[in-house]
Amino acid sequence: MSVLSLPAVPAAAPARTIPAVLGADLQVPVKGGRLVPYANLDYAASAPCLEPVSAAVAAALPAYSSVHRGAGYASQLTTERYERARHTVRAFVGARTDDAAIFTRNTTDAMNLLARCLPEGTTVVVFDTEHHASLLPWTDVVRLAPPAFPGEAIRAVDETLAGIEGPALLVVTAASNVTGELWPIAGLAHIAHRHGARIAVDAAQLVPHRRLNLAALDLDYVAFSGHKLYAPFGAGALVGRPDWLAAAKPYLLGGGAVTSVGVDGEETLWSDDPEVRHEAGTPNVLGAVALAAACDALTATGWTALVREEERLVARLRAGIAGIEGVHELSLWGPDHPRVGIVSFTVDGLTAREVAEALSADHGIGVRDGKFCAHPFVRHLLGTSDGGCGDGTASAVRASFGIGTTDEHVDRLIEALRALAAQGT
Ligand code: PLP
Repeated sequence: MSVLSLPAVPAAAPARTIPAVLGADLQVPVKGGRLVPYANLDYAASAPCLEPVSAAVAAALPAYSSVHRGAGYASQLTTERYERARHTVRAFVGARTDDAAIFTRNTTDAMNLLARCLPEGTTVVVFDTEHHASLLPWTDVVRLAPPAFPGEAIRAVDETLAGIEGPALLVVTAASNVTGELWPIAGLAHIAHRHGARIAVDAAQLVPHRRLNLAALDLDYVAFSGHKLYAPFGAGALVGRPDWLAAAKPYLLGGGAVTSVGVDGEETLWSDDPEVRHEAGTPNVLGAVALAAACDALTATGWTALVREEERLVARLRAGIAGIEGVHELSLWGPDHPRVGIVSFTVDGLTAREVAEALSADHGIGVRDGKFCAHPFVRHLLGTSDGGCGDGTASAVRASFGIGTTDEHVDRLIEALRALAAQGT
């Protein structure tokens, strides 16, 4: 549906420098009542809001109404903003012209939507390295052990798909939320397609850090979340091939998704357009606007500058950690495998919770501890079969970062870990 005719929405201003994030000057209390600048190293959970995102949401607030329904100016403007956001999101991931882009609540929602749209008898293949959002929504699923090296991932998928009859879907992360390591999604897509299967990529941790081109990589579906992409608690998206989505029962049953509701036993007809069929009810327009503004801001900044800065910070942190006795970085494929700005580790003699609490209480550093909603993977990395989550004994600490992270944040973490490691031994 094209409503890109109204001139009222200002186009995103071209950015020349990396945009600022809100909250960069936040001061937090540490032990003794002192205030220190907050070192937010928890971007993989939710990244802070970019200034252009905040501005886009503020600009959309004065006039809004329901989309796709009203003839009034506010309704038309809102429809325009919403569909323009869809257009932006589609372009951001390099979608093919006929791909559908469905707004969801987040990645979890997107994967659950896809799970409901699989043709009868589809077998899903997934590695135990996945976030629960991509591990759990499937009914007929083959789960593969964490591969020892990237080539083994491709070999395992090849062998597994060879033994599956009927439709199959490989679901795989593009960048691990535990180790930050990049997965060989192009190679996996190639193998999946050779077997007539499809591939869905969990891009929640990739798109804040790297350009994704769905068409060039020949991916069938991608899912991601706005709140990890500097668009706070906005929307998520499922982008990909429209046929399965158009044929499936609507994800939500209700207004907007329907073309005609029968009476006296007449059939109710649902829209054949997946973007309409699966978006019943009033959508989260501000979330979509925020998500699109984040996409625009990252694109305008340019990936070269973003990736260069992030890689510099990752190298700085990893070198610092490597030099501390008793601190061990988690990695599936070794120290040389490329990764995004996510570094997880353990500290000898201290639980992950103790480390995370000390970093916060003593140093004003925010990190995450636990199993990061990837229980099988973290257990594999830590070599334990413990079943609890966040129990300290089988958990890790994760530092994650992106736009707004400074050398001082990284150095403060390294110094704090040095002190903690000395205490733990
Ligand atoms: N996939 C990955 C790789 C993630 O890191 C996360 C969140 O941490 C998710 C999926 C789920 O994202 P959301 O909670 O936004 O649905």
